[in-house]
Amino acid sequence: MDCFHEGPNMLVIDPEECIDCTLCEPECPVEAICSEDDVPDGQEDFIEINARLAKDWPVLAQAKEPPPDADDWRDVPDKRHLLEEDNGAESDDED
Ligand code: SF4
Repeated sequence: MDCFHEGPNMLVIDPEECIDCTLCEPECPVEAICSEDDVPDGQEDFIEINARLAKDWPVLAQAKEPPPDADDWRDVPDKRHLLEEDNGAESDDED
């Protein structure tokens, strides 16, 4: 399955590929994965963020090691403003 897509500093899950098997949830070391129905209060915007960015970001084809600074960020709350949405790929949009 091509559920996971990789951006500059975050992974997202494509809701059109996800079949809610829940296998990934216990694998996440920071418990950042949950069902759409269980998204914590105040984080509902990540439902739209996952759906939108999964269309632009490439599929993560195989598991990778966590970033070297992952432990520095695991307990930092409210990181939404740090999300980098531009993956550097050419856009089809013409201005
Ligand atoms: S629950 Fe996780 S592993 Fe299962 S289909 Fe969805 S994203 Fe993929």
